[in-house]
Amino acid sequence: MNKRNAIAFILFFFLCGCTSKHPIKIGIQPYEGMKRNLSDTIADALRQTYQAEVEVMKSIPLPGKAFVNTKTPRYRADSLIRFLATDKADSFDYILGLTTYDISFTKKNADGSIKKPASRYADWGIFGLGDMPGSSCVVSSYRLQHPDQKVFINRLKKVAIHELGHNLGLPHCNTKGCVMQDAVERIQTIDQANASLCSTCKKSIE
Ligand SMILES: [Zn+2]
Ligand SMILES: [Zn+2]
Repeated sequence: MNKRNAIAFILFFFLCGCTSKHPIKIGIQPYEGMKRNLSDTIADALRQTYQAEVEVMKSIPLPGKAFVNTKTPRYRADSLIRFLATDKADSFDYILGLTTYDISFTKKNADGSIKKPASRYADWGIFGLGDMPGSSCVVSSYRLQHPDQKVFINRLKKVAIHELGHNLGLPHCNTKGCVMQDAVERIQTIDQANASLCSTCKKSIE
């Protein structure tokens, strides 16, 4: 390769590197019991929201080490996202676990102490959990059930978009209707939110 060719070659790669932004790659890890069509629906929602490449993997059993029976049988969401991050294939930027089982975590105050009453918050049932920022999140369909399947599926999509938003570094948002609003322990907040990011949240992850 002569000098001119070499410069053209380098320039080519430099320009390509600048213009083509790689889409993020998300792996969906269903745990046993999760219906395939629900995983696929969530995959579509994440593709649309984050212009991501999404792959649904084969389902696996829930890790026994994450199981607790403090109040009722549950899997600890904080353990699940740790396992998901550890086992994440390098080909994925993010991994989203999906389960039909109830999941929980310990609700804490800003200073790290357990929110009171501790009997209530030490093992608090939740819809989903994601590190902020981080590479893994988990969503449970257990507390999202609704007699109307459409409502149920919309809830699932919204929680998945929300938790992945946390992975991307998005904090809770005060914009009414934004999917990144804090659910503040109410399912109604999720039902009233859009299944999309507000313009401010969108901009901050561009
Ligand atoms: Zn949140
Ligand atoms: Zn927002």
